[in-house]
Amino acid sequence: MFIDGQLDFTRISIRAGTTLSLKDAFGRAINYMRLSITDRCNFRCVYCMPRKGVVSVPHNEILTFEEMLRIGRVSAALGISRFKVTGGEPLCRKGCASFMRQLKRLPGVEQVTLTTNISLLARELDELADVGLDGLNASLDTLSQKRFATLTRSRARLSTLISALHRARALGIPVKINVVPMKGFNDGDFVDIARFALESGFHIRFIELMPVGRARKYAGISQESIFQTMCKEFGQLAALDRAIGNGPAANYAVPGFDKSVGFISALSHKFCRDCNRVRLTSSGFLKTCLHHNTGTELKPFLRDGDNGDEQLAAVIAAAVRAKPGEHDFGNTAGRFLMSSVGG
Ligand code: SAM
Ligand code: SF4
Repeated sequence: MFIDGQLDFTRISIRAGTTLSLKDAFGRAINYMRLSITDRCNFRCVYCMPRKGVVSVPHNEILTFEEMLRIGRVSAALGISRFKVTGGEPLCRKGCASFMRQLKRLPGVEQVTLTTNISLLARELDELADVGLDGLNASLDTLSQKRFATLTRSRARLSTLISALHRARALGIPVKINVVPMKGFNDGDFVDIARFALESGFHIRFIELMPVGRARKYAGISQESIFQTMCKEFGQLAALDRAIGNGPAANYAVPGFDKSVGFISALSHKFCRDCNRVRLTSSGFLKTCLHHNTGTELKPFLRDGDNGDEQLAAVIAAAVRAKPGEHDFGNTAGRFLMSSVGG
């Protein structure tokens, strides 16, 4: 597809059933896209959104599901086989489940998963199970109702959320719990939440707080200290070689349980060398690194009727090609809201 670093448009051919292998300039295979379908959210997590929320992107600026499906189809033909639907809160957008159904049917798509704050999950579960959702990442930072309310600034009842997770499992949807450890918020809760997850049949991953937007004024907790807490409670954790899902998590087996504890520590255990992902914001910016602003606005391109799929493929491939080698969170914070990018 590239000859002497130049895009060869004539060699990009988008035909149903054919897929290419998308690589960036560092030779990394890019096969995973996080699709943020909305910037709106019914929570205001302290590390993600201001208390009063943010000015929402006007509806006509948000990509339609048809536009996202076109990007999905072309990306899948280029070699992106796994999609994560995220937000904001993706279940706030009407039609999310049926969008995922269509995404899953695209040629070349092997996996469609969802990241959610769980609050609107119960009413969607039957349809999501019918869609054949490949996995659910459930954000749950504490099991204390009081701290949950403080962290999410929401009135959602934890008991309702937890019932929805059990039902998801009963319906055959694999669930992973995501916890963002934060000093002064959920430091004492890790054993409880890990025990809850493992006993319920869910993997659990601790996600290091990234200095992005609101989160810059809070402090995270080190992977090492949580690892020690886990070993003290459950016995020595044993490193697993195999990846679980698409993420860069370092996963560990826990004595007596068949589910794992994982750590995603983008700062302290940088994994850029193995990065396999790009992100699409709800307004159509293809963001090729979480930290950098590098990427391409796809919306003007999509809304100009003259452009065909081959050209769209070339634009996506060129953006991927220019993906930065690594983030620089250690030195500079990200000046964007996580809710607009989808995590
Ligand atoms: N609303 C959905 C949810 O909360 O799962 C999807 C969007 S949310 C932006 C995706 C993930 O990003 C969540 O697991 C959330 O905890 C995580 N997240 C948000 N801000 C973060 C930060 N500064 N550092 C690390 N993770 C963060
Ligand atoms: Fe909403 Fe998710 Fe951000 Fe919390 S982390 S405010 S649930 S988008």
